[in-house]
Amino acid sequence: MTEMDYYEILEVERTCTQAEIKKAYRKLALKYHPDRNPGDKEAEEKFKLINEAYQVLSDEEKRAVYDRYGKAGLEGQGFHGYQNQSYEDIMDDLSAIFESVFGGGFNGRRSKGSGEKYNLDLSAQMEISFKEAVFGCKKELRYRYKKPCEACGGTGAEGGEVEVCDYCQGQGQVYMRQGFMTFAQTCPRCHGAGKTVKKKCAKCAGRGYEEVETTVTVDIPEGVDDGNRLRVPGAGNVANDGRRGDLYVTFYVDEDEHFVRHGDDIYLEVPVFFTQAVLGDTIEIPTLRGKKELKLPQGARDKQQFVFRNEGVRNVHSGQLGNLIAQIRIVYPKKLNDEQKELLHKLQESFGIESQPHESVFESAFEKIKGWFKK
Ligand SMILES: [Zn+2]
Ligand SMILES: [Zn+2]
Repeated sequence: MTEMDYYEILEVERTCTQAEIKKAYRKLALKYHPDRNPGDKEAEEKFKLINEAYQVLSDEEKRAVYDRYGKAGLEGQGFHGYQNQSYEDIMDDLSAIFESVFGGGFNGRRSKGSGEKYNLDLSAQMEISFKEAVFGCKKELRYRYKKPCEACGGTGAEGGEVEVCDYCQGQGQVYMRQGFMTFAQTCPRCHGAGKTVKKKCAKCAGRGYEEVETTVTVDIPEGVDDGNRLRVPGAGNVANDGRRGDLYVTFYVDEDEHFVRHGDDIYLEVPVFFTQAVLGDTIEIPTLRGKKELKLPQGARDKQQFVFRNEGVRNVHSGQLGNLIAQIRIVYPKKLNDEQKELLHKLQESFGIESQPHESVFESAFEKIKGWFKK
């Protein structure tokens, strides 16, 4: 079987930073998460690979080994990938990685407290447009939360009837004898619960809870950025005793075609024709809140930046405005017709010696190297 390169899997360069790895992982893991692709085997395989690649590349030590010796080097250290393993077997592993990046339990998969079948806090992802993030808005989010099955009172047993597990007498553990040694192990019948269900509740198939799809209106504050999290109190999963957890919404912000956001600052690339750059000009540029005049000085340089104070994004915490930074990109003509060539030649000649700057700069250098090659 051909082995895919971890960098290729995460679609990053070999020289990329940890931040870039994390960002790439976040994007891909969300896209291929099995909860988003139910029953899609291909997505599941892809999700496993993405997690495997992230597990290695996000760890500088493992990454260094992988860079030098490849996957074989990692196997020498006891690391094995997820290929050929069932999804259920590795879900705990995957969840741990996923949660370290996203925070919180993804759809309640965070480790549960004692007596709970699921964690009460819930997290969800929300994709929002560049504009929605910059200016804030109210937006509906559709998501699913868990609540105890009414038919069985959250027990998973028909009519709520549970019995003490007769295999372990309610201990949750059984003892195995081997020679003179005794080993404790989790009861294979009740899986440690100490109770067994005679007949599974038909309504929830023995799970003890049902999933409810609902919508919540999320009040997105002005200035949220990619990866920010917002808590929606009391919108999480419901416990048997009626307590309810919170919902944590992580935002994923789409990129804009023109504006590039970096923190609270906005970068805008402004194409400028070479004659405009030489002569200077006043042009109109778009900003987040309307148009602005950009005064190009005579002889503006390529990549020169012009800062417009307080024309950036409002900081989601402090309320202070960032800046807009317009960076010019000088554009040269792709083709010249005869008339334009003639005009440019004339222009060049009119500058005289100034049009040949290399001559004066290199004069002394030419003089100097004369002596270097004499035999
Ligand atoms: Zn048992
Ligand atoms: Zn039930």
